Amino acid sequence: MSDFDYDLFVIGGGSGGVRAARVAASETGARVALAEDDRYGGTCVIRGCVPKKLMVFASEFAEVAEDARAYGWSMDRGDFDWSAFRTRLNGELDRLEGVYRSLLKNAGVTTYDARAVIRDTHTVELSTGESLTAKHILVATGGRPVRPDIPNADLGIVSDDIFHLPELPKSILIIGGGYIACEFACILNGMGVEVTQYYRGAQVLRGFDEEARGLISDAMKERGIALHTGTDIVEMRCATDDDLSGKSDGAISMGTPMHEIAGDAPQGENRDGPIWVKATNGQSGVFDAVFFATGRSPNTVDMGLEEVGVKLGRKGEIVVDEYSQTAIPSIYAIGDVTDRVNLTPVAIREGMAFVETVFRGNPTPVDHELIPSAVFTQPEFGTVGLSEEQAAEQEAVEIYSTSFRPMQSAFAGRSDRVMMKLVVSKESRKVLGCHIVAPNAGEMIQLAGIAVKMGATKEDFDRTVAVHPTMSEEIVTMRKATRTA
Ligand code: NDP
Repeated sequence: MSDFDYDLFVIGGGSGGVRAARVAASETGARVALAEDDRYGGTCVIRGCVPKKLMVFASEFAEVAEDARAYGWSMDRGDFDWSAFRTRLNGELDRLEGVYRSLLKNAGVTTYDARAVIRDTHTVELSTGESLTAKHILVATGGRPVRPDIPNADLGIVSDDIFHLPELPKSILIIGGGYIACEFACILNGMGVEVTQYYRGAQVLRGFDEEARGLISDAMKERGIALHTGTDIVEMRCATDDDLSGKSDGAISMGTPMHEIAGDAPQGENRDGPIWVKATNGQSGVFDAVFFATGRSPNTVDMGLEEVGVKLGRKGEIVVDEYSQTAIPSIYAIGDVTDRVNLTPVAIREGMAFVETVFRGNPTPVDHELIPSAVFTQPEFGTVGLSEEQAAEQEAVEIYSTSFRPMQSAFAGRSDRVMMKLVVSKESRKVLGCHIVAPNAGEMIQLAGIAVKMGATKEDFDRTVAVHPTMSEEIVTMRKATRTA
């Protein structure tokens, strides 16, 4: 019998923490406890992937209704009812949180609805005052959105707030060019919000394949998003009457004053009306809301980590080795708090590898190579492996790329284009990267990801028979290299 209260104490009830706790308890017989001070399910389930994807679905119906008419249906588009959607969304999130709680309960995990702080290498102290010991501590506290360091930044909202808005703003300014900025620009635009987006760099979605980035940003603009690259916010404050009457310099947009709809909104505390913003290009404008999608920060503040000797990196992330072990042997960390690859399925993998290593005595490093992922813009972007630019830096490559108007939307008279692209090593013939911009590209890349992970060559793709008529058949029918790089 161990001298500790538990074999494992998990801090954080998100995707990674719940999976590790559940598997350790139910499959290895470990005595496991988990503390969560917010809702079970974490960022992914409560304020990230899941509600975001449901919002993506909701926002896509406007186009579906329009296209249906081209296909012979008599159909009115109607209006989007945010409040009806939000009520259903909240019901679904309640249901999912219940599922997470019962998964833990059924696995025999003891849960504490409390904040936990590490007091020594084997002890956690809860906000309830209880002190508990464990042979191993697993930190899975995730991350949180951050605002840029400018005066009045708390007038803006962040992604956590978007799901709670009592009403949709008529106009919004989104700051940032990453996943969250681009996804919400498309979602809100689809829901009828007038969207302006400022991104400080030359092209959105930095780090991804450049051709794909170009196609996505063109499609975003085509759909009506006012995307300004090379532009950032420099000043913001509550709008004055002069701003609202358009007397102030170069007003870009104006909508319903936020104080009319703010209600019990959890956003920036100082906010009581529309927001005046000045940009680096000298223009100013008034928006109902400003949304900072300017990155996320690991949740490591005031957790007692450095005090016990856990090393933190430059962004405040917990530094771990390939087994997710920190500088303190009894303390491990997984998921966004370690800022490795910040994706739910990766946190889950890290949790599983941790259990395998620590509770099954089978040291298992986490494999972070060739992770397929999707950005849920409209059109969607699915990607695995190296971009053309990354691959070309490494070796000589052949690029097979095609862009075309897909049958379904072309028939409805849309000019939307999709892209299928393979980046192929000249020497080994291996497909080093696959990039798809198309409706449901996330679904496609999951399957293409298996082939790429297996080390498939271009010739393996070539000898696979096409599924006709589909968009994805192009991935196996591109005979001639578009270019070399
Ligand atoms: P990202 O790091 O992807 O993007 C942050 C954006 O904000 C970048 O465009 C960045 O510009 C810009 N930025 C950062 N600081 C400032 C500043 N001070 N002023 C102006 N602009 C700034 O973060 P996200 O918040 O979009 O997403 C966080 C993570 O969440 C992602 O990396 C991803 O791992 C995960 N995620 C995954 C999703 C998916 O899989 N579909 C969906 C949503 C999130 P620059 O490029 O110049 O640095």
